Amino acid sequence: MDLFGFKKRKAQRERLAAFKTKRIKEEFKILKERAEQEAERESKQSQELANRVNDKCPKCGSKNVNDRIKRLQGEFSGDMEGSIYRSGYVHGHSEGSIDTNPVNKCECGHEWKKREVKTTWTYEALKDIFERLHWMLEDYHKAYNAKLDPNDLDETFESDEEKRKDLLKKCDEGTQRENLLKFFKDIHLETIKETAEKEIYGGLWSSAEKIRDFYEIV
Ligand SMILES: [Zn+2]
Repeated sequence: MDLFGFKKRKAQRERLAAFKTKRIKEEFKILKERAEQEAERESKQSQELANRVNDKCPKCGSKNVNDRIKRLQGEFSGDMEGSIYRSGYVHGHSEGSIDTNPVNKCECGHEWKKREVKTTWTYEALKDIFERLHWMLEDYHKAYNAKLDPNDLDETFESDEEKRKDLLKKCDEGTQRENLLKFFKDIHLETIKETAEKEIYGGLWSSAEKIRDFYEIV
């Protein structure tokens, strides 16, 4: 017997929850794929920059360049960091202060610091995107809730509405907006929220309200 239809409604709720969980998982997979593409793009950019810096001598333009690990024994005075080396150098204690540094060496004799390739990992890229989303939502939230400040002598607006409109316009013109909207295209709010809470911020994500504001005004 299912008096008042309790069981039926409970079953409906459970089906709905299961459906949402499945959808979140599917969409999370899509987000990871997009982040992977973003990571690949960033890594490729870093690789291209490194090639440009490493392959051609900045002094004579020659492409006959070799790279090598150079032992720092006082002969190399390029951009070194760290006081251990410096003090070792000043006092001439080479044994304890030998360090290595990859350099490019041209046929003309010129040497310069080798540019390393930075690999961006998928998770890093995803985290970075959520970071940017968080700041954008923060801006929208502030704009949406802005009020005239009677203590601010620089206040130029006549009403809350006018101030909000102006701030929201600035948000809409933000450079991140298009990229973020593209990244999160067709992804449901629950997925964004769940991903932020479970994968990115470990339960510290507090932007639910901000997301709502954002979707209300976009
Ligand atoms: Zn050269």
